[in-house]
Amino acid sequence: MKILVTGGAGFIGSHLCDRLLQENHEVIVVDNLITGSLDNIAHLAGREDFHFIKHDVSNFIYIPGKVDYVMHLASPASPNPNSPFGYPQLPIQTLKVGALGTHNALGVARAHNSQFLLASTSEVYGDPQQHPQKESYWGHVDPVGPRSVYDEAKRFAEAITMAYHRYHGIETHIARIFNTYGPRMRLDDGRVIPNFLCQALREEPLTIYGDGNQTRSFCYVDDLVDGLYRLMLSQEHEPVNLGNPHEMSIQELALTVNRLTKNPAGVQLLADQRAPADPQQRQPDIHRAKEILDWEPQIDLEEGLLKTIDDFRRRL
Ligand code: NAD
Ligand code: UDP
Repeated sequence: MKILVTGGAGFIGSHLCDRLLQENHEVIVVDNLITGSLDNIAHLAGREDFHFIKHDVSNFIYIPGKVDYVMHLASPASPNPNSPFGYPQLPIQTLKVGALGTHNALGVARAHNSQFLLASTSEVYGDPQQHPQKESYWGHVDPVGPRSVYDEAKRFAEAITMAYHRYHGIETHIARIFNTYGPRMRLDDGRVIPNFLCQALREEPLTIYGDGNQTRSFCYVDDLVDGLYRLMLSQEHEPVNLGNPHEMSIQELALTVNRLTKNPAGVQLLADQRAPADPQQRQPDIHRAKEILDWEPQIDLEEGLLKTIDDFRRRL
């Protein structure tokens, strides 16, 4: 198939391109590089089955020739307010790409009569009051809070994706992605794993925001990409959670990173750095993915962290 990947120069997008090319598809990346980097796809340059177009998908997207599949990943993704690449610093761009960008990407799918996959997020559940989060949970989201620019954009993106499916009959798929990590994440991304790995490799204390009792569940990128690929080939139109159900506290994550990197500097608790809207708990319920896609993560945290540490060590 000829597959359009919006956001393909980003962290997850570039790994997805690798997988799609490995499966003998042709790939066209459309990315404006706002949070991504050409470094992520430099190894693909010059291939006949790979094309890159620098373009903001919040504006009309024109792709000459046929497109069999649109995979829409373009969006800032880091919630960190201190990073220039976090969505709090890119609020309008984030809302526009979730709304206008998704509309344009669906327009390509409609014009080419192709299938469509949306990279949505666990953030549609907000600060969840149901645990673990099932796809049937409607969420607990503040429409005007600091995360709303991302959460509401993705909720709109899901709504318009379902509208194109129901009204125009487009074959659409929605992946609700939970925290994913791995090689090629920006060193200055601001999310917890890049922060901790950079700090550990510099032998600095790991900055824990709050008391570190908040939890997350981290999925290694190869597992996530495998889930996306299976969802892409499935008949499923309703949202499917993709993530690793192994939940841990941020405290526990910090201890694991320090042990694997032999960082002598320990941790630093920064009580006032924890954002008020920071979710307390997050764990995917992946029963639907197991049942429909026969998918579950294979790579445990230590193995995934060791691969990511190697990559960070090379780039630091
Ligand atoms: P990333 O920032 O590395 O990748 C996003 C890519 O989209 C970047 O290359 C960026 O330049 C591009 N982009 C952003 N706005 C654009 C626009 N208007 N036009 C064209 N390109 C644009 O982030 P990521 O972690 O790889 O996330 C990829 C997708 O997965 C995002 O949609 C994100 O919301 C979703 N997601 C990621 C995670 C995670 O843990 N990494 C979790 C949930 C959802
Ligand atoms: N966090 C932290 N130290 C850091 C960066 C993040 O303790 O240097 C915490 C953050 O407050 C949150 C969790 O780690 O509770 C995960 O944050 P991240 O930015 O990775 O993304 P989120 O899961 O909130 O979308």
